[in-house]
This record gives sequence, C-alpha cells and structure tokens, in this order.
Amino acid sequence: MLQRFQQYIDGAFEDAAEHFDSIDPSSGSVWAHMPAASAQDVDRAVCAAHRALTDSAWASLTASARGKLLYRLAALIEQHAPRLAELETRDTGKIIRETRSQIGYVADYYRYYAGMADKIQGAWLPVDKPDMEVTLRREPVGVVAAVVPWNSQLFLSAVKVGPALAAGCTVVLKASEDGPAPLLEFARLVHEAGFPKGVVNIVTGFGNECGRTLTSHPLVSRIAFTGGPQTARHVVRNSAENLAATSLELGGKSPVLVFDDADLDSACNAVVAGIFAATGQSCVAGSRLLVQRGIHDALVERLIAKAGAIRIGDPQDDATEMGPLATRRQLDHIQQVLGASVEAGGRVVAGGTQPDGMTTGHYFLPTIVDCPHARVPCVTEELFGPVLSIVAFDTEAEAIALANDSRYGLASGVFTRDLTRAHRLTRALRAGIVWVNTYRAVSPIVPFGGYGLSGLGREGGLEAVLDYTRTKSVWIRTSDEPIADPFVMR
Ligand code: NAD
Repeated sequence: MLQRFQQYIDGAFEDAAEHFDSIDPSSGSVWAHMPAASAQDVDRAVCAAHRALTDSAWASLTASARGKLLYRLAALIEQHAPRLAELETRDTGKIIRETRSQIGYVADYYRYYAGMADKIQGAWLPVDKPDMEVTLRREPVGVVAAVVPWNSQLFLSAVKVGPALAAGCTVVLKASEDGPAPLLEFARLVHEAGFPKGVVNIVTGFGNECGRTLTSHPLVSRIAFTGGPQTARHVVRNSAENLAATSLELGGKSPVLVFDDADLDSACNAVVAGIFAATGQSCVAGSRLLVQRGIHDALVERLIAKAGAIRIGDPQDDATEMGPLATRRQLDHIQQVLGASVEAGGRVVAGGTQPDGMTTGHYFLPTIVDCPHARVPCVTEELFGPVLSIVAFDTEAEAIALANDSRYGLASGVFTRDLTRAHRLTRALRAGIVWVNTYRAVSPIVPFGGYGLSGLGREGGLEAVLDYTRTKSVWIRTSDEPIADPFVMR
C-alpha cells in the first residue's frame, strides 16, 4: 500500500488535484504519493498567510505567547523525532543515524528562536528636535515564502520558519518535490502545537509552478531560499514582481587545507566526515582537499583506507554509515562529471562506480580523485555527492590562492598546528565559515551563509531574527503650541 501525503493550507489538511510519485532511493521504487500544489493552491496558501498576519488570533498574541508556541513545537518535534527521522530516511536515503541526530538539533533551533521572540526590541532615538519623541517599532516583515531543497528539509526550514514566527511573520513553506515527506508530516506538529490557522502553510510541488507562483506572489514580503545558484537566479527574477527582500543560501565547493604540521589522523577523520557524511549531499561538504605536497601520499593512503571501510547499505539500518544518493538524476550527474574529470587528467584512487550488486538503488561508492591541477571539473563543479577531489600545493600562498579560486565561498577548513598561520588563514580565506582543526560544526547561535555564488544574507544567530522584521519610525510632537499656518508670513 502506497502512503499518501497531504498539503496544509489555512489550518486544514487537504489533497491536491494532482499527485506525484516519491521514490525510495534505497530501492528505486515508488513508496508514496505527494500532493503537487497548483498555482491556485499556492495562491490560497499565501492569501491565508496574509489574512493571518492581521487576524487577532496571531496579531494580538504577545511576543512571549508566540515564544511559547515555538517551545511547544520544539517539544513535539522531539516527541515525534523517531517518525520524522524514519520518514526523512525513507524519502531521501539519508541514513537513520544522521536523521535522528539532526532532528534533535532541529528542536534546539526552534527553542533558540522561541527564546528570542520577546527579545526583539525597538528603540528610542535622540532626535535633533526638542519637541519630538521619536521611537522605532520593530514589526514583522509580512508573509514569508520559505523554499528549501531536498537535503535536510526539516533543518533548512527551521532556520527560516523559526525566526520568521518569532518575529510575528506568517509563512508559506515549500518543501522540495524530492523527499517532501518529513515536512508534510511536520505540518501535523505545527497544527498540534496550536498555531492559529494560516500562520504556517506547507505545500510541495514543482519549481516552475509551485515555486514560481510562491516567490513572485504580490502578497509575499520576504523570500528565504535554499537551493542551487541556477534556481536562485530564477527566484531573484521572480522577486522582481513583489520586490520581496530575499536571502539565498546556495551551494559550495568548500576547500579543506591540510598543512604538513597537522595531526594527520585527526585531519583524515575530519576530511572523511566532511565529504562522506550525508553521502556528500551537504552544502558545506568539504569536497576540495588541498594538501601540502610533503604529506600528500601519506594522507591519500589513509583516506583510501577509510573510504574503503565505510559500510554502505540500507539507510534505515543503524549500522549503515553511508546511504544512497537522493535521486537518480543526482547519480547520473555525478557519473557524468566524474567521466569528464578522468578525461581532464583526474585519477580515481577510490570508488568511482556503483557498489557491486547495488545498482537498483541510487548507491555510489565513496570516491576519491587525485587531480594534477585545479581545472579538473570535479575540482571546480559542485557535485553534491560522495566525491573528494585532491590537489597538492607547496606553499601557504599557493594554498590560499587555490582555496579562493572558486566562484563559491560557503565553508572552508584548515588543519595546522601553527597558531599564527591559522590566524593568517582565517583572514585570507574567502568563505562565510572557516573551521580550524575541525569541520562541519554548526549551532543555532552562529550565523551561517556564504560569499559569491554561495549566497546572500546569513541564517542563524541573533541577527537572523531581525531580517524578518522592519522598522517603523514613529514621530510624536510633544508641544501643545498650535502648529503655525505655513502660508502666513510672520
Ligand atoms: P534546487 O535549486 O533545484 O531546488 C531548491 C528548491 O527550489 C526546490 O524546492 C525547488 O522546487 C525550488 N525551485 C525550483 N525552481 C524554482 C523556481 N523557478 N522558482 C522557485 N522555486 C523553485 O536545489 P536542489 O537540487 O533541491 O538542492 C541542491 C542544492 O541546494 C545544492 O546546490 C546545494 O548546495 C544547495 N544547498 C544549500 C544549502 C545552504 O545552506 N547553503 C543547504 C543545502 C543545500
């Protein structure tokens, strides 16, 4: 029996007129039907969110009461974590170990923003006019269109929905057409938490209808988008219709620099986790390893051994360390770029194919490509898969030049025991995140975002919530003196 999911609009669960198949990436077979939101569905969702914005059920809630709703939502996420994790694993192939631990963290993100709801403050301004009181009110920006890609949908939506609701906005969240099950299930928790109808609406569907209608809708005031740079260009064009403020969290080709004084075992473990966790389908995947020539062979040898030992298999199995890719499209893309990389001189030293006997699912072996220079396609292109590209360098200056030779700039990692070098690199690297002697650490308290093609704006941290507000300047005249007629000369 195939499962059937519903969309959530204006506080009600409903079928869409059309549904599409969702594929289990571990078997390649259809396991569920998902609602394909039409342009009319999206319009109804945005109109519901727009009504809810000024409806007293939401607009009259105190900021602390909004915070309490978010705390309740966080508790429900924790309570239903096993079901959410199972669904995310089923629909995207992300291994159960990772989805379980990430969902615990999703609850922490909602708690972080719950605590922030009643700490958003306005200001009094020392204006240069003696008979005026001027205050700044901070108001919710309006209806937020949140659009997420298929990897980590619960997590990537928490960094948008959390601050938006804390600020008093209302939201239409579009799940990706690939792997939307966990977000459609999450809608049930939003409902149970008691958010007034229309405050959160969750739909899914395809980019050219559902996504375009949402991001160009005239009643949307703020767009929070995560996805690839090519789609981001469409979103920015769509936003020319509503002139909504837009934040973009896009892809990456993040470099990890390992110097010859680094702790090699530590660096090796971090590099392996940085690229093979989530089967490499992570925006911060450390996919470009830059290694100092003197330790190149020793590090590559360790990496090959580690990659070869990774247990690949059923993502629902606790023992599995790497699952399948989320889609066949993704698998095809990786194979195609890998072929071009070999033609350009890349040497596949580990993996490079689907594992034997596992070709019905979207499995691909942990792959390492040793590259003679940085112009090999797997060094320049985001593959969003388990492919590590390696380029050797001789000097620190060369390492910095190689690291910054990318249109992306999301994350970076540096492995060295030299403190002064570490400081020099944190200044020199052109990326939104620099991890020193660690990789892939995240926290709700720390802003996240990239340079260049990796995006615009930051999510997470204290200031993210202010991005969902706008100020209103209030001038109050304090003098009882009548205002003089401006057309009578004195
Ligand atoms: P994608 O860009 O194809 O899709 C993202 C979302 O945009 C989906 O919901 C899709 O339906 C929607 N969309 C598509 N066309 C649209 C349109 N014309 N208008 C509005 N919405 C539209 O991305 P993907 O392939 O699902 O995900 C992979 C990409 O996401 C990678 O590039 C990855 O690096 C990036 N990513 C970035 C971060 C980050 O925080 N920086 C995190 C995760 C993933």
